[in-house]
Amino acid sequence: MPQTLDELYSIPQEHLDFCATVAQIAREKIAPRAAAIDESAAYPWDVRKELSEHDILGLPFPEQYGGTGTGTLMLNMAVEEIAKVDASCALMLMVQDLGTLPIQLFGSDELKERFLPRCATGEWSPAFALSEPEAGSDPASMRTRAVKDGPDWVINGTKNWISNLGVADFYVVFAVTDPDNRRITAFVVEADRPGFSVGKIEHKLGIRGSPTGQPIFDDVRVGEENVIGEVGKGLSVALGTLERTRLGAAAQAVGIAQGATDYAVAYARERRQFGKAINEFQAIQFKLADMQTRTAAARELLYKACALTDRRDPHAGTYASMAKVFCSDTAMAVTVEAVQVLGGYGYVKEYPVERMMRDAKITQIYEGTNEIQRLVIARSLR
Ligand SMILES: Cc1cc2nc3c(=O)[nH]c(=O)nc-3n(C[C@H](O)[C@H](O)[C@H](O)COP(=O)(O)OP(=O)(O)OC[C@H]3O[C@@H](n4cnc5c(N)ncnc54)[C@H](O)[C@@H]3O)c2cc1C
Repeated sequence: MPQTLDELYSIPQEHLDFCATVAQIAREKIAPRAAAIDESAAYPWDVRKELSEHDILGLPFPEQYGGTGTGTLMLNMAVEEIAKVDASCALMLMVQDLGTLPIQLFGSDELKERFLPRCATGEWSPAFALSEPEAGSDPASMRTRAVKDGPDWVINGTKNWISNLGVADFYVVFAVTDPDNRRITAFVVEADRPGFSVGKIEHKLGIRGSPTGQPIFDDVRVGEENVIGEVGKGLSVALGTLERTRLGAAAQAVGIAQGATDYAVAYARERRQFGKAINEFQAIQFKLADMQTRTAAARELLYKACALTDRRDPHAGTYASMAKVFCSDTAMAVTVEAVQVLGGYGYVKEYPVERMMRDAKITQIYEGTNEIQRLVIARSLR
């Protein structure tokens, strides 16, 4: 007996309604801007305002701090809806989660009170600064240092590939505090602290509306109250955060895949060659069938992983890794096929599928590469 999605995951009607609102905003306000955002590579402040005004940036937060309190599945359903039309704008919501989850999961009550309510309204946005030029998949090898000086910590170093660079109001920064034992600590650094500066901004293949680059910390001083969790336990803060937020990359991937599939289906209905619509050729029908099937399968795995996270199931982390790998590989494969369905028109910027193909690639790389996720999954099988 087939079950509907809401029976499987118990999605309350108000969450489905919220999702429909997000989809409508994505269709009406974001989709018409997507090509221009990609072309200009400018951060779309107007979209951020739209997402704030409709409480969408409140999705990662509990009600206690002004958020919607609707959990991981609802958050990622929203990420998916936005990514269907624009993966860069979906990243706004993903980073709202990524850059605040360390505080939500490990921060003091004072840090939560200071930062979460203004992020829940969308007034502030965060960044998560873990990666470095020489430390990507292996964050423990980072070079950024924090040294205790009286009551303060003094941070020095350069991070790399940091999303929201230059637009974030604060950065969650990971720094080595005990070099002998390679112990790392997590700090909140506000963007207006003396010694903080915005370094190189990358020119990217995809998600071009989301600024990525190098924040520089040059003798930046923060007080003890800006430490997240325990001194020396920063790697647990980072890994505990990523275990949940990589579901966002998976949701972004499902959205990209569905957006590309929907576009290719509509195109194949209209495009005529040899006197008939190209969706009458079995070669095209089978491509579309596979694209839809793979995307649907990816979504099921994503929703299951989100539901397990919301239930704090002990297998949630492994499922998050499986969802991240499967959804991102699906997005890549599906968008390549979408370009093929459109032929030459798929290869030019006038049509959105080449952008979707470029955007899909990042989902295999960030939030822990797919190779690293396969290691995590394999470890659970030993
Ligand atoms: C657009 C963008 C946005 C990003 N946003 C953020 C952000 O907001 N915050 C942040 O902290 N980081 C961010 N990142 C960084 C991202 O998480 C890293 O790029 C990623 O973790 C990989 O690190 P690396 O690029 O140094 O690659 P490397 O670690 O050098 O990996 C290179 C290749 O080797 C493989 N590899 C490495 N180690 C192993 C191993 N043990 N076994 C098998 N294969 C291995 C990798 O899978 C990869 O294929 C972002 C990156 C990009 C491109």
